[in-house]
Amino acid sequence: MELTEKILKLKREKKAVILAHNYQRSEVQDIADYVGDSVELSRKAMEEEDAEIIVFAAVDFMAETAAILNPSKKVLLPSTGARCPMAQMLTVDEIKRWKVLYPLVPVVLYVNTLASAKAYCDVCCTSANAVDVIDALDAETVLFGPDRNLAEYVQEKTGKTVIPIPEHGFCPTHLLFHPEEVHVLKAQYPKAVVMVHPECSAEMRRVADFIGSTSQMCRYARENPEKTFIVATEEGLLHRLRKENPDKRFILAYEGAVCPNMKLNTLERIYLALKEEKHVITVPEPIASKARKALEKMFELTGH
Ligand code: SF4
Repeated sequence: MELTEKILKLKREKKAVILAHNYQRSEVQDIADYVGDSVELSRKAMEEEDAEIIVFAAVDFMAETAAILNPSKKVLLPSTGARCPMAQMLTVDEIKRWKVLYPLVPVVLYVNTLASAKAYCDVCCTSANAVDVIDALDAETVLFGPDRNLAEYVQEKTGKTVIPIPEHGFCPTHLLFHPEEVHVLKAQYPKAVVMVHPECSAEMRRVADFIGSTSQMCRYARENPEKTFIVATEEGLLHRLRKENPDKRFILAYEGAVCPNMKLNTLERIYLALKEEKHVITVPEPIASKARKALEKMFELTGH
């Protein structure tokens, strides 16, 4: 029996649901029940009332978020090495240090943080709703972490003072994009629409026709009549974009933009995790309750 068939058979027997982040390998996306961004997927898992196991093909903080929002389900991360380096950049001690400096300023954390950090914030946000969350807060200054580029982007959009914590948090994959490559591609495809993720640098934001999260890019590409898109985000999204828009052309703005952490989840590892029900992600109390509050506050502020 083929590996894919074995996974699907096990999935049925164990009442499991497979979630794959937009940056996963193509073959992993193809066997998943849902493909999307991290919070979208955690919410999908909440809707799957009969599911007992969630196999979350993504990185550590996303599996933690799924575990926090789905406490009665077993959450498996196929590869324990799949850790997001940006999430590791913001420690609890660093947050405490900034809270001492700005005691009255709310702390907004990107979901790309560990649960221990989320437990120390007032509200979470995603790259899709960061602007709405900060707009909705009754504060003109916020502490925001860990991505400095997203902090700058939100500051530009809201006009509020967004202080990045730590000062220089970044996603190593999104920092690989540079405008030079975009200019070369634009010379070749002058009508192409340039879509840029807000984790990219300010220079990249300046060459963008559209700035948005992975889910927003998918919607934009679907609704835009243009046929060619230059995409500045992790290469995995292009599989989904091409599948959903077979008549359009998607070009990665820099060929090496691969997140090695995301790619650690192979079909083999998914099969083994499911078979042995191993690599269970749990978040201890009271961290889970505090982090859940910050996530629920985000849903409350954005209405979904
Ligand atoms: S793409 Fe960047 S933010 Fe996403 S998991 Fe990889 S390193 Fe972390």
